[in-house]
Amino acid sequence: MIDRDTTLDWMSRFAGEMGEHRQELVRLDTAIGDGDHGTNMNRGMQKALEKLQSSEQSDPGAVLKTVAMALISSVGGAAGPLYGTLFLQMGTALAGQSEVDLPAFAAAWRKGMEGVQSRGKAQPGDKTMLDALLPAVEALEQASDLSGGLREAVSAAERGMNATTPLVARKGRASYLGERSADHQDPGATSTFYLFKSAAEAMAD
Ligand code: ADP
Ligand code: MG
Repeated sequence: MIDRDTTLDWMSRFAGEMGEHRQELVRLDTAIGDGDHGTNMNRGMQKALEKLQSSEQSDPGAVLKTVAMALISSVGGAAGPLYGTLFLQMGTALAGQSEVDLPAFAAAWRKGMEGVQSRGKAQPGDKTMLDALLPAVEALEQASDLSGGLREAVSAAERGMNATTPLVARKGRASYLGERSADHQDPGATSTFYLFKSAAEAMAD
């Protein structure tokens, strides 16, 4: 079961990953974008931690909504609103639940992913964060227990992240490069891999 404290731990681990991998994400985004993905995500998650510390959240959904608002208000660029939408839709799906089980968690991820798709209009294979998100959400939906399912989701996200490398980008700034966007790993798919990694660590039994 996922409760408020597990969700707080997840978000604090994700913020830690964004700090630790800031330069890696900057380097990936410098190759096919404008080089700000690492600083964007790090700044946004630091803001999110500040917001979480200065207010009380009653349940997992409330934690995720607080993070969403912080990202939407503090991160310019594509990824802030996209991650904001992901967390906002997840938080809305979980509203009022103090204990979240695997089916509810997987359903919330599905809603969050649909929010990313409706906002960004990306399809699988467009070389975006969706390419890590979709296989990971599907792995969770097929799982039979939470911590095992999250480990599967991390592997699926990692495979999806690696599979972005040969792709030609069809959405976001990288799409401006056309064919020259190939042979580079997508920065947003990489941060999404870290999002699942931190979830699996927070929710390991
Ligand atoms: P910006 O591109 O505005 O500089 P970031 O660098 O923070 O924003 O984020 C770039 C990442 O956002 C990309 O690597 C990609 O994964 C993701 N992204 C961009 N556009 C879209 C979209 N339309 N749908 C889904 N993800 C997208
Ligand atoms: Mg960028």
